[in-house]
Amino acid sequence: MAAFSRAKHRWKRDNLFRVLTRNLTGKYDYDLVVIGGGSGGLACSKEAALVGQKVAVLDYVEPSVKGTKWGLGGTCVNVGCIPKKLMHQAALLGTAVKDAKKYGWQIPEPIFHDWATMAEAVQNHVRSLNWGHRVQLQDKKVKYLNMRGSLVDEHTVKGVTKAGKETILTAKNIVIATGGRPKYPTNIPGAMEHGITSDDIFWLRKSPGKTLVVGASCILDLPENKEIIIWLQYQKIIVLNSSDVALECAGFLTGIGLDTTVMVRSIALRGFDQQMAVLVTDYMEAYGTKFAWKCIPKKVEKLTSGALQVTWMEINTSKEYQDTYDCILWAVGRAPETKLLGLDKLGVQINKETGKIIVRPDESTSVPNIYAFGDIAEGRPELTPTAIKAGKLLAHRLAGRSSELMNYHSVATTVFTPLEYGCVGLSEEEAEKRHGKDGIEVYHAFYKPLEFTVAERDAGQCYLKVVCEREGDQKILGLHFTGPNAGEVMQGFALSLKCGATYSHLLQTVGIHPTCAEEVIKVNITKRSGLDATVTGC
Ligand code: FAD
Repeated sequence: MAAFSRAKHRWKRDNLFRVLTRNLTGKYDYDLVVIGGGSGGLACSKEAALVGQKVAVLDYVEPSVKGTKWGLGGTCVNVGCIPKKLMHQAALLGTAVKDAKKYGWQIPEPIFHDWATMAEAVQNHVRSLNWGHRVQLQDKKVKYLNMRGSLVDEHTVKGVTKAGKETILTAKNIVIATGGRPKYPTNIPGAMEHGITSDDIFWLRKSPGKTLVVGASCILDLPENKEIIIWLQYQKIIVLNSSDVALECAGFLTGIGLDTTVMVRSIALRGFDQQMAVLVTDYMEAYGTKFAWKCIPKKVEKLTSGALQVTWMEINTSKEYQDTYDCILWAVGRAPETKLLGLDKLGVQINKETGKIIVRPDESTSVPNIYAFGDIAEGRPELTPTAIKAGKLLAHRLAGRSSELMNYHSVATTVFTPLEYGCVGLSEEEAEKRHGKDGIEVYHAFYKPLEFTVAERDAGQCYLKVVCEREGDQKILGLHFTGPNAGEVMQGFALSLKCGATYSHLLQTVGIHPTCAEEVIKVNITKRSGLDATVTGC
């Protein structure tokens, strides 16, 4: 015991000595210390090492309320984009199997989906990515520390291991990329005790069974009179967010054959073009997802049978209802991981409403030498590719290699619901707000993917619209597309918007036949004309 206390004392003295000598000499252990090894933090640290910086990255995962944990790589790899897209793919394959019969495949009935097989395969892939990230850091000579990081001063970070061992690191610059975690509602009895979040769903070994997904733009904690104001503030941010976790999860759960209900307080896909949002949810309803619109949960109780009984209220009528589920998935928003960083001690400014760190266009915070970007930063899109790009650019600027800033405008994104929705640029509502109703022209088309014809699938929600300025060459302000592979379709068009594409450019482009994407360059009916926008013929 005495030896332990002596060692602890020696360690504290050494660390103090390092901080003092750093302050006197201006020499640091590292050029850059990054807190958070997710999409942004890893990209930033690897890029910094590539341009000659001495770098350390700290990553630490606090287990979810239900005890789920994972490895290096952050949200995207472990509990976000990657497992979500793979489970979405599992659901799409289920639909494809049904289509396949129409195409002549003889498939013995009944077919069913095995959750455990899917989950094991997805989880193994995620583990391989965790390992890949560790190897990459090693190869690029980035020091990886599996520690929770916090700020000591503007050049010093304290790392603490799971076992409580502390390490002090000094650096010329510090970058915070600690992302966010799903929230639980705090005012619903039984919510946390009996519910899970997206931090758990991808790591379940057993099928969740009959599931209630609460979300799709649902904020449950706010006092009634504050709601509108806060909604408006959130709207600014949610405009930039990619994925609607509630709809995406409900989509793949339905697709693999589970009885799934989405409870929505107001509207789905807030911040996205609302005409497109309605098409997405209409398609989901047509393919089996149930929706409890304008409803809020009141309590969750566990019955002796083990089933979860949910009581909810319909907002318009105040009538209460009950049903039982095997699983409640809360998708009611995400909270930034700032609480344990020691930001207040140093005076790093945060937005009190959102908890996110306030940053300038160069990702600098209110404290010199401390930078923040990705999901943790105020007003930034909650998207992996923006975090990666912002991180790389920041690394170059900090190394004095470039002064290029991240351009957060016209970032394309896709919602991976059963009918995918991809978009880039302004929604029709936003374009109208900025340019006036008469200042924009909207070209649109209801099209039928060729693949749907033989499969006899309804294509009623396959739609696209191109929102343009009305004058001149009609610069494209926004492009929206629901249909198969929407993300793949949208990526190329995103490039064209960056290059300043106009409606005239679309007309000059020759299509690739037969594809869904060619419908975008063929679009010729304006909304204003009121003509039937259904594409006919080949
Ligand atoms: P993160 O990736 O969250 O990484 C932060 C890391 O820091 C984590 O590992 C965290 O554990 C660690 N950390 C936190 N605090 C500390 C600390 N004090 N010390 C050390 N480490 C710490 N985006 C897309 O572009 N496309 C999609 O399809 C998509 N789908 C999504 C689906 C879901 C279900 C979710 C939840 C998100 C999805 N996203 C998607 C969003 C995307 O995952 C995030 O925008 C992205 O991961 C943000 O990267 P980041 O580096 O800012 O933070």
